Amino acid sequence: MTRYWCEWAWIAGTAVGEVLATVENGRFAAVDFPVAAPPPDAVRLPGLTLPGLANSHSHAFHRALRGRGGDVNGTFWTWRDAMYRVAGRLDPDSYRALARAVFAEMALAGVTCVGEFHYLHHGPDGKPYGDPNAMGDALLAAAADAGIRMTLLDTCYLTSTVDGRPLAGPQTRFGDGSADAWTSRVSGLAAGPGHRIGAAIHSVRAVPEAQMPAVAEWAAANEAPLHVHLSEQPAENRSSIIHYGRTPTAVLADAGVLGPRTTAVHAVHLTDADRAALGDSGTTICLCPTTERDLADGLAPASALSDAGCAICVGSDSHAVVDMFEEARGVELHERLRTGRRGLFVPAYLVAAIAGVGHPALGWRDAGYIGVGARADLVTIALDTVRTAGCRPDAAVFAATAADVRRVMVDGREVVRDGRHLLVDDPARDLATAIAAVLP
Ligand SMILES: [Zn+2]
Repeated sequence: MTRYWCEWAWIAGTAVGEVLATVENGRFAAVDFPVAAPPPDAVRLPGLTLPGLANSHSHAFHRALRGRGGDVNGTFWTWRDAMYRVAGRLDPDSYRALARAVFAEMALAGVTCVGEFHYLHHGPDGKPYGDPNAMGDALLAAAADAGIRMTLLDTCYLTSTVDGRPLAGPQTRFGDGSADAWTSRVSGLAAGPGHRIGAAIHSVRAVPEAQMPAVAEWAAANEAPLHVHLSEQPAENRSSIIHYGRTPTAVLADAGVLGPRTTAVHAVHLTDADRAALGDSGTTICLCPTTERDLADGLAPASALSDAGCAICVGSDSHAVVDMFEEARGVELHERLRTGRRGLFVPAYLVAAIAGVGHPALGWRDAGYIGVGARADLVTIALDTVRTAGCRPDAAVFAATAADVRRVMVDGREVVRDGRHLLVDDPARDLATAIAAVLP
């Protein structure tokens, strides 16, 4: 049993002073406040201690593209070409090395659980590896190496266009051929103490409507989360209208994909009917503000989605930035740009997006809050840095950055102390080495 005395801790939607959290077997056994004087045996945590942060949407290998330039007069689609060149060079060993460094970067940023939207399944020629889940297993091992939990959102990816053109070139390795073949491969993956297996439909571009129900049924049968990219770019909507006569949201709704266990990622270009369908079905929305700005995706109608009944979580997606505070306040700041109004999302809502909403969206209902019985994940940020000094603890989400994270605990195990990763010696060096190895 270990006791932690938090100067401030995030409890039930606000910052509470002088909190004593007792951790036993990786879970909170007691949470008491106020406890004015820290007991002598307690570990003192100055600053603000948050629940573990969930990064609900990640493609680990995209990290190799950060800060490489080359996007002059570019679009989402020219960026995708560059991304495919990296995708073509990864194998299970190089992917494990890269992902381990990326997940270590996430741990330093306070991420205790990542949703890895994984579609790089097979060899570059499309032939399965000897172990057909070698790439997924490499990602699971990388998360374990870096000390964070993962939901592997194994992704069905079958076609290159909405009208069903076959995969070609770098996309060949993404494909299983059919949703049934995807199901049988995914059934070879098993959950473990630090990871879960979830399902993903890449998008309406990559999975024909007729193939979607098999993926949704696998997720339902396994009580697994189901994620899907939705309307990130207007071109996807145009193709969907031409081919199906319906928006991507309507196609997903008709195929039985939407629902309370489903998370739609991006949801930028929506009609009123789309928003109603997402809200009425209880679908969660994952926004990725730093990626959506980096890739010129547009501004999602976040407050309208919230008003429609959707819960909102966030992800760092392409990892142009790995900073969950920047993602969280991006939800509000993008909405300010879109609407000309401030304060549509209060700090408690934004903290929920990175903690209490994200974890269940990844299938972890016992994480994302500091309370008796929950997984003992704690993220302590300093309130005495040049960024955070003077801010109110309950509004620190508007001031803090990943660089203010001092201490991270995952399932009761300390992973970051004094801003240093305890399991990965030098994540920056490892990132540089792993990225150099996979750049074309
Ligand atoms: Zn994505």
